[in-house]
Amino acid sequence: MKPDEFRRWGHALIDWVADYRERVSDLPVVSQVGPGTVTGAVPAEPPEQPEDFADVVRDLDEIVLPAMTHWNHPRHFAYFPANASLSSVLADVVSTGFGSIGANWLASPALTELEEVTCDWMRQLLGLSDSWRGVIQDTASTSTLVALLSARERTLGLGQQASGLQHREGPLIVYCSDQSHSSVLKAALIAGFGRDHVRQVASDDRFALDVDALRREIEKDVAAGARPCALVVTTGTTSTTAIDPVDLAAAVAEEHGLWLHVDGAMAGTAMIVPRLRSLWYGVERADSIVVNAHKWLGAAFDCSLYYVRDPDHLVRVMSTDPSYLQTEADAETTNYRDWGIPLGRRFRALKLWFLLRSEGAVALRRRIERDLGNARWLADQVDAAEPWRRLAPVPLQTVCVRHEPPGLSGDALDEHTLRWVASIERSGVASLTTARIEGRWMVRVSVGAEATERGDVEALWQAMRASVG
Ligand code: PLP
Repeated sequence: MKPDEFRRWGHALIDWVADYRERVSDLPVVSQVGPGTVTGAVPAEPPEQPEDFADVVRDLDEIVLPAMTHWNHPRHFAYFPANASLSSVLADVVSTGFGSIGANWLASPALTELEEVTCDWMRQLLGLSDSWRGVIQDTASTSTLVALLSARERTLGLGQQASGLQHREGPLIVYCSDQSHSSVLKAALIAGFGRDHVRQVASDDRFALDVDALRREIEKDVAAGARPCALVVTTGTTSTTAIDPVDLAAAVAEEHGLWLHVDGAMAGTAMIVPRLRSLWYGVERADSIVVNAHKWLGAAFDCSLYYVRDPDHLVRVMSTDPSYLQTEADAETTNYRDWGIPLGRRFRALKLWFLLRSEGAVALRRRIERDLGNARWLADQVDAAEPWRRLAPVPLQTVCVRHEPPGLSGDALDEHTLRWVASIERSGVASLTTARIEGRWMVRVSVGAEATERGDVEALWQAMRASVG
């Protein structure tokens, strides 16, 4: 495609995206197509000859659009908000237009320096002290993996040993709560801790890490000759947005020399609202923090902020420094390839830079407050409407509910729950997520899409009540 053709189709597709956002509320939130629909609609073989680009755009409308579930729909209440503010969409277009890869500072100085600047802007907005340095990773899963690798290396220096993974010592143990995200277990497995050495410690009646239970697990492990290595606490767990007590956990981590990683993937960006910062009180005592700007805040996926206190340690763990990447500027610049796993890095900072400049922190804080208010409103409706039951505290924007008609329990209650959720999704009115809590299905209503206003939450509540007859 030549620049003049790109210009023509680019204008058309920017219009397409703008029109899409304007009319997305008229579309069913959850795609209504069945498995195999898209595969069946496109040729199995790749095209040998160029096609008219108009045909590609036609297929975007006819094949792709109906098979999309709309995360930026005002009645998207599933999973978590994945806000892709349109300013950050434009940044992605520009970033991809450059097509530059940030393999070192010289490979695109702006790519590195805007990453330093935007990470620091976000640090200030989150209320973190200036002892933190940030880097943008693709996802929280990667950030947590980097944290656990850093923890492993601080305890063992395994990567620096000739014997590497074959080095034998008492097993290293990773601790988290039984409500921590699956990415913690995955990171521990990939980092080589082994499934038997991950302790998913019991949570309390608010679904937060039980620090006394944590202490007991650690003492048991130490007595058995194992070596406690890392503790992951979560500010805003996935199922219920439970808040682990960071400060109490930090005391345990310090006592036992554990690496403390704070997973604020979903809820961390709420800390741009100063009154909420008490939720992660103690965070300054952590070794690393992950906060996804690509969830609630509005930077289009992917944009995961990973903060560390000791960047030198991170670089020791991650750097290999081959001669072909060395430049004269290395001593005075940051080479982010040594702050994570991939060598090639996208210009993700542009998304944050565009977003923060076009919205301003005041509007972002206001939007988070709006969402907290909407979630609180829904929680109040649920609390007042028997036999609906709210199953967890609502510290932020997620409301966990079940409809519990008298006489219904066990598997029958599970079937009832899954049935009414499916009927809402089939109707196209809203998307929701089901998850198990204490062994039974419940429904998570995750408020916070950029377009969601009170009327959308009211429409959901109406649909919920209608769905149970
Ligand atoms: N941690 C928490 C608490 C989450 O809620 C999620 C996603 O929902 C993740 C980690 C994983 O995020 P990512 O998709 O960026 O890896």
